[in-house]
Amino acid sequence: MRKNIIAGNWKMNTTLQEGLALAKGLNEALKDKTPKCDVIVGTPFTHLACVADAIDTGKIGIAAQNCADHEKGAYTGEVSAAMVASTGAKYVILGHSERRQYYGETAEILKTKVNLALANGLTPIFCIGEVLEEREAGKHFDVVDEQIKGSLFDLSAEDFSKIVIAYEPVWAIGTGKTATADQAQEIHAHIRQTIAGKYEQTIADNCSILYGGSMNAGNAKELVAKPDVDGGLIGGASLSVENFLPIIEAF
Ligand code: PEP
Repeated sequence: MRKNIIAGNWKMNTTLQEGLALAKGLNEALKDKTPKCDVIVGTPFTHLACVADAIDTGKIGIAAQNCADHEKGAYTGEVSAAMVASTGAKYVILGHSERRQYYGETAEILKTKVNLALANGLTPIFCIGEVLEEREAGKHFDVVDEQIKGSLFDLSAEDFSKIVIAYEPVWAIGTGKTATADQAQEIHAHIRQTIAGKYEQTIADNCSILYGGSMNAGNAKELVAKPDVDGGLIGGASLSVENFLPIIEAF
């Protein structure tokens, strides 16, 4: 069954204390509510275990924002998928454009990370999306197809069915510029079609495809009303309960 999901990506924001307060605040705000979507917070590595202890993880899932492309061993400073899973996190955001752009994450590296995440029981939230020049050149459909094929299409149907996709046009991330709901619908439908071309239609139909890029309380309703937009990956607006809650309530 396709799930509706609203996931926050805190990026490199909040100290441990600030992050804990944010997570507890969200937990409190949702205490007496039954959201019509799965709610996830993507915290820095340092916060994962404490946040898992502090909130109702039955109501709010926890995501890491990355994991290593090696299983274990002499990789100073890296955090493995097994370590992430051991904190209580159930998700890992992979392939975010900031990781691709600033840390040289290639399709091949991401393929390894996806495999390690799955092997450790984590659900990858796999980010794809084109830069402005690619959109202006009309190449955005090809770009997302290549990103999916390059990192995900060696997966078995069973493993692919565990993936969540986040379409995040790079030109909309942190810019205040959102794709229109029609633009999001158009490319989400295309992504679903690409998945159906490789796997079965039911696998494509059951895949949650989130939109990311300056999603906020003002535009969330219109975006998630589209049939192929199954939720959002939210950066800036996930950093306060006041801004994040109305997005959750957009469903
Ligand atoms: C993101 O980084 O995943 C994102 C969507 O950021 P923002 O909502 O701030 O554009």
